[in-house]
Amino acid sequence: MLKELKLSQIADICGGTLFGEDACVIDVSTDSRDDLSNKLFLALRGEKFNGHSFVDKAIDQGASGVLVDVDSGVSLEPRIVVHNTLLAYHDIARFLRDAFQGRVFSITGSNGKTSVKDWLAQSLEDFGCVLKTQSNFNNHIGVPKTLIQIENNHQFAVVEAGTSFPGEISILSKTIHADVVIVTNASGSHLEGFGSTKAIAEEKGDLITYSSLYSKVILNFDDPFFEYWKGLTGKREFFSFSLSDASADLYVSDLDLGASESSCIVHFRDQSSLVTIPAPGKHQVYNALAVIGALMHVDVHFIDALNKVSKAVQVKGRMEFGLTKNNALLIDDCYNASPTSVEAAIDVLSMQKPIKKWLVLGALGELGDQEESIHRGLGKYAAEKKIDCVLAVGPIAGLAVDEFKKVGREGRVYASKESLAQFLLTLNNEHAVLVKGSRSAKMDDIVNVIKI
Ligand code: ATP
Ligand code: MG
Repeated sequence: MLKELKLSQIADICGGTLFGEDACVIDVSTDSRDDLSNKLFLALRGEKFNGHSFVDKAIDQGASGVLVDVDSGVSLEPRIVVHNTLLAYHDIARFLRDAFQGRVFSITGSNGKTSVKDWLAQSLEDFGCVLKTQSNFNNHIGVPKTLIQIENNHQFAVVEAGTSFPGEISILSKTIHADVVIVTNASGSHLEGFGSTKAIAEEKGDLITYSSLYSKVILNFDDPFFEYWKGLTGKREFFSFSLSDASADLYVSDLDLGASESSCIVHFRDQSSLVTIPAPGKHQVYNALAVIGALMHVDVHFIDALNKVSKAVQVKGRMEFGLTKNNALLIDDCYNASPTSVEAAIDVLSMQKPIKKWLVLGALGELGDQEESIHRGLGKYAAEKKIDCVLAVGPIAGLAVDEFKKVGREGRVYASKESLAQFLLTLNNEHAVLVKGSRSAKMDDIVNVIKI
């Protein structure tokens, strides 16, 4: 935490009341299992746990005080009582964020947030100490948790902002108050909660609306919602990137998409340079451009920014290349899936060398009434990209197989992951296998069986 705070100060920051003796704290934690010496324990109400049940344990763990809500009935002291502990968590985070003199970057979008966040954080390391969102903690709990971890030695914070309900990004954005905002794209993930891609784009746009009035906004010129987001920037400076259009600030030509990396010439005003992006697929070129744009907004020279992305290390669990026990090429992209990320992964599969290409698909979740059309669309897309065979688990992913077979292609629907995994083990080095599905489909159960 950036500075020591008194409990009375924290009570002021979040409009609460302190009961009991004042004390100084050096951190705020929501986990009663932590060593809580000199820390404030903040009780959150979650779907599965209610932090208020753990306040006694928190005191046993050394907490200097607890922050609880009015309905909790907690009477131990010292305690700060507020109406809503989650909002108090955000108030504390925003207070500390405002005290931070370094640059705060924030990234949202339907796909690529974690990839951009990690690439950007890696690239910034050479220019100063970086705090970044750990793993994928990008929601209304993860964001304050991240910001509260800012320390005096940090020069940059890179914060991922995700959304699973309308209005979440506006809450996050007010807390992050970013100096540099990146919106990667908008597509039909989480359609169930939002209804349409337009509603998703509007939600992502809140990261711009509630960012610092002096923020720089990095936008994807090729996204259908580019003009909409640009309209939200107001007087803020915006910067666009494109895969082809020379009207964007940063654009590419001579794109060569390879099986494991891509190369292209990146243009910025009168400068241009060849760069190799060490990860396959067009989507990674987009992510790289977003990172280059963000770096240039903290005065990293164009050529240095290109050098940084050319050395970026691929994020774990996203399109990881390996081999199966029987030497087939394995592309493990089962961390999560949205319709666009499945298409991006199919593109990468189609570029691979082995003779026969297999798409192994688990269901995509949270698609609402577009579930059927999207799964069918993916089957069609796989056929267009000349994938040889689609193997699905369960009836929903099976809709992709149904569509794929309509154009005379080979496909099968499996009732269990075990039997599908056993079949995959029969494929040898003449085959490339892409495994993909939503987190809820847990397609890693297959990867864990077949991976060498
Ligand atoms: P989440 O919503 O789960 O936090 P995310 O936005 O952080 O996802 P990543 O974790 O970077 O995204 O990538 C998730 C999936 O999307 C991976 O399969 C990855 O290969 C793919 N992906 C990454 N970047 C893009 C992009 N720009 N466009 C489309 N797909 C992408
Ligand atoms: Mg993420």
